[in-house]
Amino acid sequence: MSDHTQQDDALFFVEDDTIPSDVSQNTQLPDWNILIIDDDPDVHTATMFALNGLKIQNRNLHYLHAYSASEARHLLIHSEAIAVILLDVVMTDENAGLQLVSYIRQDLLMRDVRIILRTGQAGYAPEVEAIRDYDINDYKNKTELTQAKLFTTVTSAIRSYEQICTVSSNRLGLEAIIKASARLMALSDIQEFAETILEQVLDLILHDADAFICAINFSDFSHGGEDLSKGAHIIASKGKYLDWNNQAFVQVAERKQQAMVQKALFERKHVYEVDSVVLYFSNHESVSMGMYFDTGFDITTSQIRLLDMFCSNASVCLENVALSSRMHNLAFFDPLTGLSNRLHLLQTLSASLRSHKKYDSVLVLVDIDHFSETNDALGHHFGDFLLCAVARRLLDHFGDACQIARIGNDIFGMLGHEEMVAPEMILSLFTKPFLVDGQKMQISVSLGLIKLSDYELQAADALKDANIALKRSKIHNRSRYTYFTKDLGVEIRERVRMMHALRAAFERDRLFVVYQPQVNMQTGKTVGAEALLRWRAEDGSFIPPDQFIPIAEYSGLIVNIGEWVLRSACFEWKQLSEHADASFRIAVNVSQAQFSHPLFLQSVARAVVDSNIPPDRLELEITESMAMTDPEVLIESIAKLKTMGVRVSIDDFGTGFSSLSHLQKLKVDKLKIDRTFVNQMSSTSHNASIAKMIVQLSQSLNIDVIAEGVETQEQADLLMSFGCVFAQGFYYSKPKIHTEFKDWLSRAQLLPK
Ligand code: C2E
Ligand code: CA
Ligand code: CA
Repeated sequence: MSDHTQQDDALFFVEDDTIPSDVSQNTQLPDWNILIIDDDPDVHTATMFALNGLKIQNRNLHYLHAYSASEARHLLIHSEAIAVILLDVVMTDENAGLQLVSYIRQDLLMRDVRIILRTGQAGYAPEVEAIRDYDINDYKNKTELTQAKLFTTVTSAIRSYEQICTVSSNRLGLEAIIKASARLMALSDIQEFAETILEQVLDLILHDADAFICAINFSDFSHGGEDLSKGAHIIASKGKYLDWNNQAFVQVAERKQQAMVQKALFERKHVYEVDSVVLYFSNHESVSMGMYFDTGFDITTSQIRLLDMFCSNASVCLENVALSSRMHNLAFFDPLTGLSNRLHLLQTLSASLRSHKKYDSVLVLVDIDHFSETNDALGHHFGDFLLCAVARRLLDHFGDACQIARIGNDIFGMLGHEEMVAPEMILSLFTKPFLVDGQKMQISVSLGLIKLSDYELQAADALKDANIALKRSKIHNRSRYTYFTKDLGVEIRERVRMMHALRAAFERDRLFVVYQPQVNMQTGKTVGAEALLRWRAEDGSFIPPDQFIPIAEYSGLIVNIGEWVLRSACFEWKQLSEHADASFRIAVNVSQAQFSHPLFLQSVARAVVDSNIPPDRLELEITESMAMTDPEVLIESIAKLKTMGVRVSIDDFGTGFSSLSHLQKLKVDKLKIDRTFVNQMSSTSHNASIAKMIVQLSQSLNIDVIAEGVETQEQADLLMSFGCVFAQGFYYSKPKIHTEFKDWLSRAQLLPK
């Protein structure tokens, strides 16, 4: 038993084998406190006399005196560690003694103190229940209590007091360990873990010891090395070692400390010496820690037991810490750039949205233009370097002023004060080229921004909205920036909803193709049909192609859907042509996204071969606006289609701005007069003149011309008068599903026109 342990009254260790002789000689052990309660002063004197000279475990007795119940109460409240109470049961009134016992046990909750009841009155004895309930050690008639008897009674009471204390201190120690583990388990950072351990160990053993913890991280070393303690760093410290924190262990520690710590780390065990201890903690994998502290005395075996227990618990927790800090790293940081990742940004974002920062913060998404092309062209390795260089530049400029994260392949997220992360500023960082792998790379970025103050948002929504703004920048202002607005949100959300529905509809075969005849107005013969896509929604309603085709194009779904339409139409041709003229053609609309897809020509060739359609019976309709973009690529593709024998027509002609020379170069087979010119032909002469002009243009180019959207005989007559022979429109037939179209064809062929 040492002075130190006594200071911590929660943990009061007592054990016979724990007192090294040298310590007991030098250290004055505290007395056993004995409280005598009796209204007769003689009893006090007699008791002291009887016990004179009694030493139990080298500790003297110290007496406290109370002459009444109230004095006793006062003493009980104000004295510490009373081992034994010698109490007169009767005192002034019959129940005063027992009332006092009840007060000690039930009110003061003093469970450890041993109570010996004495009475001067022969024949008076408390009930058996009282003795049991109040945990009374002994009941003696004063006359029975000879000196020898008192001696043994008090000795055994002190012994049992001591045992009770050991048991309860062990219990408290275990409780402390359990509580400590719970706290340690919740930590995810090694540093914090070490600080907590330091505090907890000292709480268990001795409060104000000087101590430090040094840790060694094996993942920093290639292989163990001879002197493990060389790599160790002090990660927590206290008392006189306080300024050792964060220093290399070997640089600050004394020789003896070095020897002890090294032994602990090498032999993987605790090292107990006369006046100091090193506790060893390890997660069996990457981290080993040694906690050194000065005890100034030899600690007891029960303290050692407790420490052992504590340490093995703590090592389990340390495993958890290492795991969770590694998981923390994996979970919150991008391994390539070391920046925060999307999840981490979301966390900060969500904290910002809940704080005053909301009012002046802005979230910016920075997307590298054409990154995937760069990646494909120069390799992923290069792409990775480029991403790191971008991360570096953002960090160099913004540093800690805002949070920078990599939230997607080539998308960075920045969150900070709106003045800090201004879009012009960010864009200006990309005016200088990046040096990647010795090469100068000039890149541009598109930004999507959202001001957090403008909306009531969850973090994930803010990110989505910023992404919407980014998409908008990509589509409309490549290399520029867009702030998110509510309208933008509504529009894009609806699009996204529809895109998912469209994908599902395609997968569930809710899309189908209808056919609208193209006729020779002069002969009345059906010369072909245009394949038009239809979508019947779950509720049976039809969604107009003008609404869903742009979404299919925007999302890229059109590539698969369009191929499916093409193949369906090619396969349908065979059956349709049996009901029509041998020269019957099928026209299929092709979007820009399909046309510019690298595998487009192959997919056309495959459709033609698989369906066995003669290639010149297939006509692909491209819009005039498409014909205007990327003319070089288009000319080449059309040329290839033509070598296959497939025909090409320009749809919606008159709405774009094709020049004559351009048209000549394109070498298409047909122009399709847009229906707006046809529909309004009869009412305004201007539109009539446009239709007429297109017919003339086709004649001068020596290519076919067809009018679409013909609804009346009058329109048909007018078109014929211009020299236009072919037409398509409700006047002849609405688009029909293939079975109905076949019936219609059979009947139409019979009708003389
Ligand atoms: P478009 O290529 O100009 O197709 C002609 C549109 O005019 C069709 O509309 C047709 O139903 C409609 N129409 C035909 N005759 C008349 C008429 O006399 N009066 C009026 N007012 N309209 C008439 P639809 O089927 O609603 O298709 C709209 C657009 O959707 C098409 O315009 C085309 O650009 C696109 N589309 C339809 N199917 C496909 C497809 O499979 N692939 C692609 N890429 N686009 C398609
Ligand atoms: Ca068309
Ligand atoms: Ca058209």
